[in-house]
Amino acid sequence: MKSYREELWFNTPDRRNYINITEEVEKAIAKSGIKEGICLVNAMHITSSVFVNDDESGLIADYDEWLEKLAPHEPVKKYRHNVGEDNADAHMKRQIMGRESVVAITDGKLDFGPWEQIFYGEFDGRRRKRVLVKIIGE
Ligand code: ZN
Repeated sequence: MKSYREELWFNTPDRRNYINITEEVEKAIAKSGIKEGICLVNAMHITSSVFVNDDESGLIADYDEWLEKLAPHEPVKKYRHNVGEDNADAHMKRQIMGRESVVAITDGKLDFGPWEQIFYGEFDGRRRKRVLVKIIGE
C-alpha cells in the first residue's frame, strides 16, 4: 500500500470564506500516483471545515446566511468562550459543517456523485491555516 500526505495552506481575506479546493485535491492525487484508494481531506483547525457539496454561488450564500442565523458572530459578548477572543461562533459553524470529507479514488480520479465538489469553509480567517490531504491505496 502507498500513502501520500500534503498540506494545503490558506490565508483568507475575510473572517468567513468558502473555497472550492477540488482541483488542489486532484493535483495531490496525481502526485501520489495512487489509482485505487481513499482520500481524506480535513481541516487542521477547530474553526474551519472541509465539506462536500455543489459549487453554486447561491448555495454558498445560503449556507453563510444559515450559519449566521445558527451562530451569529455578533454580539461577540453573548458567548462564554469569548473571553480574550471572539471566535465562539466559528467553533460552532465548524461543528455543523464538519471536520473532514473522505472520497473514494477510482482509476486515479475522485469518485464523486453528481455535482459533488470539495470545499474549505473558513469561519475565523485572515490568518494562516491549513488542510491535511492524506491518500492511501495503490
Ligand atoms: Zn476559540
